[in-house]
Amino acid sequence: MSPPLFYPHGARIAVLTQEVVGVLDYLAPEGGVRLGQLVVVPLGPRRVMGAVWGPGIGDFDAARLRPVARLIDAPPLTPGMIEFLIRMGEYTLTPLPLLLRMATRAPDLDQPPSARRIIHRAGPPPARMTDARAAVLRVIEDHGGAGFAPGELAQLAGVSASVVQGLVKAGTLAEVLAPRDVPYPRLDPGLPGKPLAEDQAEAAETLRDALKSHAYGTTLLRGVTGSGKTEVYLEAVAECLRQGRQALVLLPEIALSAEFLDRVEARFGARPGEWHSGITRTERRRLWTMAAQNHVGLVVGARSALFLPFADLGLIVVDEEHDSSYKQEDAVYYSARDMAVLRASVEAAQVVLASATPSVESWVNAGSGKYRRLDLRARYGTADLPEMGTIDLRQQEMERGRWISPRLAAEIRARKERGEQSLLFLNRRGYAPITACRACGQQIGCDHCDARMVEHRFQNRLVCHQCGATKPIPNACPSCGVEGKMTAIGPGVERLAEEVAERFPEAKATVLSSDLFHSARALKEAIAEIGAGSTDIIIGTQIVAKGHNFPRLTLVGVIDADLGLQGADLRAAERSFQLMRQVAGRAGREGGDARGLALLQTHQPDHPVIRAILSGEDEAFWDAEAVARQAAGMPPFGRLAGIILSHPDQPVVEDYARELARRAEPLRAIGAELFGPAPAPIARIRARYRVRMLIRAPRQAPVQGAIAEWLASAPKPPSNLRLAVDIDPQSFL
Ligand code: ADP
Ligand code: ZN
Repeated sequence: MSPPLFYPHGARIAVLTQEVVGVLDYLAPEGGVRLGQLVVVPLGPRRVMGAVWGPGIGDFDAARLRPVARLIDAPPLTPGMIEFLIRMGEYTLTPLPLLLRMATRAPDLDQPPSARRIIHRAGPPPARMTDARAAVLRVIEDHGGAGFAPGELAQLAGVSASVVQGLVKAGTLAEVLAPRDVPYPRLDPGLPGKPLAEDQAEAAETLRDALKSHAYGTTLLRGVTGSGKTEVYLEAVAECLRQGRQALVLLPEIALSAEFLDRVEARFGARPGEWHSGITRTERRRLWTMAAQNHVGLVVGARSALFLPFADLGLIVVDEEHDSSYKQEDAVYYSARDMAVLRASVEAAQVVLASATPSVESWVNAGSGKYRRLDLRARYGTADLPEMGTIDLRQQEMERGRWISPRLAAEIRARKERGEQSLLFLNRRGYAPITACRACGQQIGCDHCDARMVEHRFQNRLVCHQCGATKPIPNACPSCGVEGKMTAIGPGVERLAEEVAERFPEAKATVLSSDLFHSARALKEAIAEIGAGSTDIIIGTQIVAKGHNFPRLTLVGVIDADLGLQGADLRAAERSFQLMRQVAGRAGREGGDARGLALLQTHQPDHPVIRAILSGEDEAFWDAEAVARQAAGMPPFGRLAGIILSHPDQPVVEDYARELARRAEPLRAIGAELFGPAPAPIARIRARYRVRMLIRAPRQAPVQGAIAEWLASAPKPPSNLRLAVDIDPQSFL
């Protein structure tokens, strides 16, 4: 039964606060209050933010209840949003206050929507340039010329407010009064799209019909990179806009979506709302409030855009649905792909999961009829999938300290002579994965984590990829004290770049690695320049796998295809398959005459994953993976949940974990098994010891309820112990 939508003055109401206490009872204020209304309530001596959650529930003496202090002038959460948060909380075992925070992550919601001062670029650089001034100008550039609140600009640039004011006086910047929270320009679904190929037209028609049903449904839209999936789901967006409903497109690496935003603009005549970590506070607030009032038709965003308060959501597209960045494993553990499906089912909306290489989960769901499946078979236009082959490293004469085989080098040279581009893929940031002492063999590790430090030569430091700690590269070995013997072992992209410079001195090379660019915008620009043909050899980590268009790229060389084939991870094979398939798909996208070539350097050319990549028989690969998972009772045929405990003291966390394991009766009662506790593969991060347990349960077992009961029955955890539950874990580190 749905709760009433309005509560008159004096009615007893439940308010979900953002505090640990969760839901508490209050009295409705004068004038009454609506369900979902954001309010400020007294909590002890403090005032905290909350949302009206329904009729009062506690048996606390009514005479002692306190009234709501004040209403926040923002649109109330819709009943659909409330139901979504409750069901997400039940599924992920996340406390509701944390979810409320995610759903209200817009600054200054409590401020009136009046005009405010905005700073923007207005003139040439100042005659007198200083480091501080340059920092301010760089921040503005990084945000693509968006407006800033004055304080925000100074803060982002790490300078004092007077620097910003100085630039205003110099005429480089201007301060204007801008209206706040203005609606986004309307997207026009009536503009013509590209004429669609036959399979595209059929798929688009099916999606349009699905939207017309005004009911929930999920579609897996499958097709190799370049088969025109985006073009198809933009037709679904158009239908959604025609109905006056809102659409959300989730992308894995929002930073890299400039190309995508341009496409939306070309199709609908205006830009969509953008939601990701790079947008300004002003934009964040505007998008949040406009979403709640249906004043933004399309939002393109990173995974957290799923928590925007859409007034009337009709469609969610999850592009590259298999991408691991949709899984958040920090504070709140959730999969944005799975939660998109949940939210759509609550809102009677449609979901489109698009991918060239779907996750085994989605593949199985499509096979069982739970999802609809649409396939785009032809690659759009003339370009073919690249020709693929392996280079057997056991049979190549490799020089010491060299990673490009003679065969691959010859192909690169041929491309260079024809004016075409080559891409060398190596999924390792930095210069070398290991720095060790040649005298004693000691490897340099992080002081806070159970991880090796990685040399980054551009920064001239060792960096921990777990916690980000850095230190200088020592001259003397920290273990044996011998000087001048520290040496780099193995390749990273920076070292590969060195080899390229030595062996192809006449070629222009560019390294694409997330840590080499000071901002998302700088990275975008580098990618645009490469696309325009500014470079001969691209050396990149997995950021190159995502859909950029490099029209002149005709050769992809995978430096170490064996990386990722091993590993205890249940999804190692799947990930490796997806990644290499995608990287290979970069070659010859708009080929013209030149069909692309992808070459995988490997020591195991007969490995089943390598063979599946080469054969192009994706379906056979997924079917085989599905069979293997079923036999092992693994997802999606069985269910997994990870329990991650951590504490600064190793014995404390180990004792508590053992105590939990002894009390696992509620888990056994539903037929689940408990594995562990065992030290996590990364046993220490940021000076906290980590212990993991894994629960495996039959597919239909009520896992969440059993886990909740189990944890509730355990003794109170020692102070400073952190316990996280990860339902459907993706990573096991
Ligand atoms: P995917 O999303 O499957 O990778 P895209 O939709 O990005 O594929 O299409 C790949 C390229 O082909 C893009 O440059 C796109 O503009 C172009 N394209 C796709 N469909 C059509 C079409 N029907 N007419 C013209 N160009 C198209
Ligand atoms: Zn570390």
